[in-house]
Amino acid sequence: EHAKVAEQSRPDFEILSTTLEQVDNKPLVYLDSAATSQKPKQVIEALDHYYTKLNSNVHRGAHTLSREATAAYEGARDKVQKLIHANSRNEIIFTSGATESINLVVYSYARANLKAGDEILLTEMEHHSNIVPWQMLAETIPGLKLKFVKMDRETGAVDLKEFKSMLNSNTKMVAFQHVSNVAGCVNPVTEMVQMVRAQADAKILLDACQSVPHMPVDVQTLGVDFLAASGHKMCGPTGIGFLWGREDLLNSMPPFQGGGEMIDQVTLEGSTYVPAPGRFEAGTPAIAQAIGLGAAIDYLQQLGMEEIEAYEHEMAEYLVRRMEQVDRVTVLGPKSGTPRAALCAFIVDGVHPSDLSSFLDMEGVAVRAGHHCCQPLHQSLGYSHSARASLYLYNTKEDVDTFIEKLESTIAFLTGLEGEGGQADDDF
Ligand code: PMP
Repeated sequence: EHAKVAEQSRPDFEILSTTLEQVDNKPLVYLDSAATSQKPKQVIEALDHYYTKLNSNVHRGAHTLSREATAAYEGARDKVQKLIHANSRNEIIFTSGATESINLVVYSYARANLKAGDEILLTEMEHHSNIVPWQMLAETIPGLKLKFVKMDRETGAVDLKEFKSMLNSNTKMVAFQHVSNVAGCVNPVTEMVQMVRAQADAKILLDACQSVPHMPVDVQTLGVDFLAASGHKMCGPTGIGFLWGREDLLNSMPPFQGGGEMIDQVTLEGSTYVPAPGRFEAGTPAIAQAIGLGAAIDYLQQLGMEEIEAYEHEMAEYLVRRMEQVDRVTVLGPKSGTPRAALCAFIVDGVHPSDLSSFLDMEGVAVRAGHHCCQPLHQSLGYSHSARASLYLYNTKEDVDTFIEKLESTIAFLTGLEGEGGQADDDF
């Protein structure tokens, strides 16, 4: 029904219509967009245009090129602001990606405000980038406690009862994913935020890496305090992402990194800082990448975030239904019939995920195998690894059909080997 999203967009992604010379000229079936998305020609042209026509440093103002580069860079900030419905452009901080955005909150906000006895509530589903920085912080503040909410095995989402029960007056920070990059579940953010507001005086950080590229996201209705996302998962370049935070909150925080651009006055005795966003953008920023991200946002909005969401919803259901019918396959996260993201992590009984992805790769099918930066989530489900197929706006039903066909033949081949005393490995 919404297939025009892919019909319209696919020709803009040249890489999707190429064959892989490295793989016997097989056509590419790219099913790894949760790791990074492909880039449409409009984004590649924006990078090219910047480097060939505008290249110069921003905010130095002294000459035409610099003014134009600054306007393009700051224009990209406006585009992010509108995309997520932020109140002010000053609330958008460009970072190198979601990882840096989360680290900024940890090192700037949390390090300055949290103390012994305080609690940080996370979930066991988090990406390592939303676990490790908090652990590093806890090492430097003795008595600071990290607590992890379990995932509900039925719904595949955060266990809301447990979430509620783990909140208390010591909870000072709550950080969780909007959409899981492994389970594919969509967490009920508004409900979770209401629980936090009712029971604790805590700041809330939302890892929106897997939601902002795929659905309309409005920071006003979500009601969180910080939101982190990466540009490269939303048709933009690598090396750029953003942190959104409430303006008064951002301006109450000490800088994350020191250097040029973020200062007001510098003397040998000390320095003062400009307000957000400049305060958090020390040094020459990723100018071309920010402009590329702006072009990516234009691209997504021209397709329509609602349309993208509706199309991916159909594709998610199609993918999961087909996967559930494949012999030996166990899908992680919500079952078919439950709304979920268009990504599917799975286990194949008797086949190691990395063998599976290597064999699929030989057929031109790109899927990911490993722990997907979510070791605790896998441990909690009783696995160490999984394979994952993830879709984006340019993937078609034919991509899914090819994948399923190759998956079935690969499983038959690999488990056939097992029958002949071959090398299938159950140990995962
Ligand atoms: N959170 C989630 C849910 C993710 O999927 C990712 C990327 N896999 C990240 C955080 C980290 O993003 P990046 O590597 O772009 O900084």
